[in-house]
Amino acid sequence: MRAFRASVLHCLADPGEKSDRAAFEYFDDGLLVVEDGHVADAGPADELVGKMPADAEVFDFTGKLIVPGFIDCHVHFPQLDIIGSFGAQLLDWLNQYAYPAEMKFADPDYARDVARAFVNELLRNGTTTALVFGTVHTHSADAIFEAASAKGMRLVAGKVLMDSNCPEALRDDPQTGYTESKSLIERWHGNGRLGYAITPRFALTSSREQLEATGRLAAEYPDVWIHTHLAENHDEVEQIARQFPDSRSYLDVYDRYELLRARAVFAHCLHMDDEDRATMASKGGAAAFCPTSNLFLGSGLFDLPAMRAAGIRCGLGTDVGGGTSLSLLATASEAYKVLHLQEHALPATRALYLATLGAAEALYLGDKIGNFAPGKEADFVVLDFAGSPLTARRTAAAQSIEEKLFALMTLADDRNVASTWVMGEKAENED
Ligand SMILES: [Zn+2]
Repeated sequence: MRAFRASVLHCLADPGEKSDRAAFEYFDDGLLVVEDGHVADAGPADELVGKMPADAEVFDFTGKLIVPGFIDCHVHFPQLDIIGSFGAQLLDWLNQYAYPAEMKFADPDYARDVARAFVNELLRNGTTTALVFGTVHTHSADAIFEAASAKGMRLVAGKVLMDSNCPEALRDDPQTGYTESKSLIERWHGNGRLGYAITPRFALTSSREQLEATGRLAAEYPDVWIHTHLAENHDEVEQIARQFPDSRSYLDVYDRYELLRARAVFAHCLHMDDEDRATMASKGGAAAFCPTSNLFLGSGLFDLPAMRAAGIRCGLGTDVGGGTSLSLLATASEAYKVLHLQEHALPATRALYLATLGAAEALYLGDKIGNFAPGKEADFVVLDFAGSPLTARRTAAAQSIEEKLFALMTLADDRNVASTWVMGEKAENED
């Protein structure tokens, strides 16, 4: 048994929907108690310290803030090295930057190198779980699973399915995509903390035959994730309408191929109508809100209030390399601005929810991670208000935990991540 003394904050529900008191718990002088890698208790230190067994190890992080490990609902590990690429919207951006970067993953050693660097970057930013795109290469999925497994992380990933409208070197076909994904599911899904996501890139890059085969595979494995993109960019939505004239909407394309269900996570979801939102909610699909990417690629503004009002599970995604940061704090800051442009507010506690419990619920992992309910896996991050001179000044002037957290989300970078813990063990960075 070990315990961590600090300010402790975690969400119990969506603070956008419940009053603060019901939606989150905050212990200014708190204690997080961990036993066998799982949360045993979280509460005021003065109540809990006396109950600790004499041989328990107590880590004193007084003055710092412990929150649940961040969860990234949508990110591409092979795009790590093209983050911040200039000037293009989605379809040109894929051709100019993403596809050339992904071609390098034909080399398994290169894939392993990038996977290790990517996992280190996640942990450096306090991210303990992510839903991750690979490339079309089977070994890209092996590489990210091996890297995450070495750190004991809970991570869901998959190889891309893509057989049309893309460079020849990045194509599989309906049959090989199906069999390679199936063998990866058998190898990795449920292997330790890992899970597999069937990963068609998006409807434009899969033939009808591939979408059919993908739907068949999904039906064979109802507890496997599905991970794709939806309604990101206006030109993309227009091309979808031309390529699938028999579908009512972009979402309807996925629905017709049985790819809309519980554990299906759709990145972006920017250009949708109320009927789409009602369908997505009723079938259990979830949305990854990727504000840095949506702003950087000029894609559009995510309508969080409409999505949540429809009953859709939502979490934040960084969408690196279209996104510009692997930090969920930086991502939350851009989410605030996206909502502000639509005349909504995003309180810091709701942003925290979208990066932790909300994201866990979007991934159907709310029973395992996302907050400090007893029995959950003890993944957490220790944030340092004084990580930079400016955050030290700004948070010292703050009157409440909400104001401190908002200042962190607006100003923090990886200097403010003091340490990241996976199943109660400190994750060491190797670089
Ligand atoms: Zn993406």
